[in-house]
Amino acid sequence: MIAHELPSSPPLSTGPSLPRLLSALDEQSGGATSLSAHRRTYPPPTPARRQPAESYIAAVEKAGLRGRGGAGFPTGRKLRTVSEGQGRRVVVVNGSEGEPASAKDGLLLTRAPHLVLDGALLAAAAIAAREVFVGIERGKVAALRAIHHAIAERVHAHEPMVPVRVVELPERYLSGEESALVHLINGGEAKPTSTPPRPYQRGVGGGPTLIDNVETLCHLAQIVQWGPAWFRSQGTVEEPGTMLLTLSGAVGRRGVCEIPIGMSLATILSSSRPNAGGISAVLLGGYYGTWLSVADARVATMDNATLRRMGSGLGCGAVIALPPHACALSETARVLTWLAGQTAGQCGPCVHGLAAIAGGMRELAAGTASLRTLESLHRWGDQVEGRGACSFPDGAVRLLRSALKVFNNDVARHISHGPCSAAAHQPVLPIPSANVVSWR
Ligand code: SF4
Repeated sequence: MIAHELPSSPPLSTGPSLPRLLSALDEQSGGATSLSAHRRTYPPPTPARRQPAESYIAAVEKAGLRGRGGAGFPTGRKLRTVSEGQGRRVVVVNGSEGEPASAKDGLLLTRAPHLVLDGALLAAAAIAAREVFVGIERGKVAALRAIHHAIAERVHAHEPMVPVRVVELPERYLSGEESALVHLINGGEAKPTSTPPRPYQRGVGGGPTLIDNVETLCHLAQIVQWGPAWFRSQGTVEEPGTMLLTLSGAVGRRGVCEIPIGMSLATILSSSRPNAGGISAVLLGGYYGTWLSVADARVATMDNATLRRMGSGLGCGAVIALPPHACALSETARVLTWLAGQTAGQCGPCVHGLAAIAGGMRELAAGTASLRTLESLHRWGDQVEGRGACSFPDGAVRLLRSALKVFNNDVARHISHGPCSAAAHQPVLPIPSANVVSWR
């Protein structure tokens, strides 16, 4: 996985222009940025610089930062709500990144762990939290090692901080679901619990809990450092700042890159050196996301306001370019089969509905489906959506619907003429090799 930048804008006199977050990576060593190197750019909040907690919240509100984990909720509003809650407040860094097509949070944890910790500790100061938890999947060994080492460096340097605990998460898609994360930290399994109360009301230890993903907290640290005006100098008015994308598929430059929100998707794809054969579609937002046709990808800009009008969204920032030789229906069937295997097994519509949807999609891909199968797929989508205790099945339905719409010609051909020759090619979308059974 590489880190690179896409077309940049003129430098500013304050913080970095572009890349912003990726400028915190130590490109020379290729490893984690040390505390001393990090502190050359990000001084610790010494007593002279220490600001009242309220000013951190106000700065994030003014900056207009929205969560970069997928939901896009305003981070300032979340900070304020938790800060006003009663009880022992806690910050949880959500570093699960169970989305197979995303690598940005793992990159930040592994290469810029001190920026992550700065963000978490500043958030803790803002809401007067007594403790910080950092949740990372147990298979992400490099990220775990980097964050443990970064904590030890701070302890050794006597940097003032509230206790920071690292929690190893099971390698499941749902480990990063907020209520699942809280349930695990509270001693249960990493399965979603029915909500409300939401974690910001009653979370870890029963106290108000702020859960933010890794990238969001890194932006928060930079906002405190360089201010809301600097943050707003990139991005759109509604969705300011930059965001990390994970590019993969039929492009020569795969990996994590940083863009201003609102950048044209066509520019991003052409800067990423598409393969000679071109691309046939784009999967945007990861496996919880949506397919875009090439025509839509040409006019799309990377901001939720625009993408939602197209029935899409930024999601976790994963962008997969599908090569023309791939069978989009087979790819979607593989992803839906994997997603069905990730259910927490607690709600009937999720367990049975997703299995049925995955089965129907496999039949479509194999060319054994009939028009009745297609009707059933639409019906099952309607029956499953909104029927789970969490929103997990809704993401799978979103992916299904976008596939049936964008690839409607392929669907018709598979039903009338059987499987296409592309189905015999190597799959493109990455699928974790096995479903790990453990939930703890
Ligand atoms: S909807 Fe699915 S993943 Fe969510 S709680 Fe129910 S069974 Fe678990």
